[in-house]
Amino acid sequence: MNPLSRARALFCWLILFCLGAVWIARQEYVDQHERFFQSTSVAQRMLSQKTVQHEAVLATLAALSHPPSPERLYPSLQPAMPQLLGLGHLPGGVWAGSLPQPPGLQAAVERARELGRPVTMPVDDARYWLVAPSGWSLLLDARQLVPAADFPPGLAHLTLTVNGTPLVLLDKQAGDTAPGLTLALQKPLGAASQPFPIRSTRKLTPDTWPWTAWLGWAVASALLVAGAAAWQRSRAEARRQQEQVRLSAMARLSTVGEMAAGIAHELNQPLTAILAHTRAAERLLDDDEERPAVRHALLASAQQAKRAADIISRMRALVQPSSPARREALDPDALVASLRFLREPELARQGIRLTWANASPGARPLGDRVALEQILHNLVQNAADALSGTKGPRLIALEGRVADGQYQFSVSDTGPGIAADAMPRLFAPFYTTRDQGMGLGLALCDTLAGSMDGRIDARNLTPAGACFTLSLPRAGGAA
Ligand code: ADP
Repeated sequence: MNPLSRARALFCWLILFCLGAVWIARQEYVDQHERFFQSTSVAQRMLSQKTVQHEAVLATLAALSHPPSPERLYPSLQPAMPQLLGLGHLPGGVWAGSLPQPPGLQAAVERARELGRPVTMPVDDARYWLVAPSGWSLLLDARQLVPAADFPPGLAHLTLTVNGTPLVLLDKQAGDTAPGLTLALQKPLGAASQPFPIRSTRKLTPDTWPWTAWLGWAVASALLVAGAAAWQRSRAEARRQQEQVRLSAMARLSTVGEMAAGIAHELNQPLTAILAHTRAAERLLDDDEERPAVRHALLASAQQAKRAADIISRMRALVQPSSPARREALDPDALVASLRFLREPELARQGIRLTWANASPGARPLGDRVALEQILHNLVQNAADALSGTKGPRLIALEGRVADGQYQFSVSDTGPGIAADAMPRLFAPFYTTRDQGMGLGLALCDTLAGSMDGRIDARNLTPAGACFTLSLPRAGGAA
């Protein structure tokens, strides 16, 4: 699977966040609804208790054989029942009460007797008479059944319908016009004589939404997705590296055959020469006068043996590149100064001028000093080899510059340039167009550059000459 791109990661986060946010909202809603339901039930019980208390008072009064007069009774009951506005009774059809007789009382008493329980006679939206079969009657104010402060805090809006029009007992969300979902619950009061319906509503406005939980989830889900993306990226990176190692191993293997043939060819020449020189020396050994010739033959074979050893050591460097190259910020001016110090006398003897231009002073390539020196030496040597047969000006121009975020060394010469058929095989081991060449120089340069995460490119210059460019990572910051 491809690592998460920024857009895909954002999309995944959005989906994850939305799913989580919906779940959190649902949990919050269930929670709010539960609290609302509990609060409404508590309010319903509180109001029901009051209405049951009214029935109990009426039953007690009916049971008294010598009840006190309503005018005396009222002040003693009122402090415990703030909702009680007045009371009275109708013994033998004559009204005695703390208030004047309400109209229709006689009919209400008869209705109560028929039903065998108290009945109500509404006065207005809040007040009502509760008339018992005994003729005892209470004038009650529904507004004062329960003080608003005593209702549970989970309630927002509560109405009680005594006489058709709902009477507002509590309104904590008055004037709140914010949009929101409304919870509503309707229940009748418990007393059979006063089964007034109560209705409770609560609007879930934005300030009651679970913002903190949502914010927490947004951060947590973002961290989750970022972590997953980073994990995927690191896995993809590890896979890419494995793939690169595999590819380079394959590339090495494919050149093994070519190299084996090359080694055989290359070593054949010095070994044949060593054999010839040693045989000649053996033949001449018995003759004292031929001693200088013997020395010469042995020296020549030693030279050939050295060449063979040289070929083998270069091969080893090519096949087993040294452990991962060290990375340090290198000073290009110092590197070139040392190169010039070593090469200039010999180049001058061949009539070759070596120049150096630092187009990005202060910039530093990152690499291994020894490897970089070896590459530059090889490129300068190749340029010198290319110039050996030219008639015109003999110039090798070295240049250092920052380009495309990398540090580039270029080695240009005014030689004949690279032959078209040589161009594709330039870096292949044992490819050479020179009689004395081994064809290992550029292959080695390429391997060394690769070990420093760099690369070498070759191109021809107009009107003549070749240019090799070594690109290396640049040490951070310095320009
Ligand atoms: P060698 O120098 O032993 O031939 P190299 O790998 O260094 O091996 O070079 C391979 C070949 O690349 C050379 O034989 C030559 O044909 C070509 N070449 C390298 N450098 C130059 C150059 N500066 N100008 C023209 N041809 C070059």
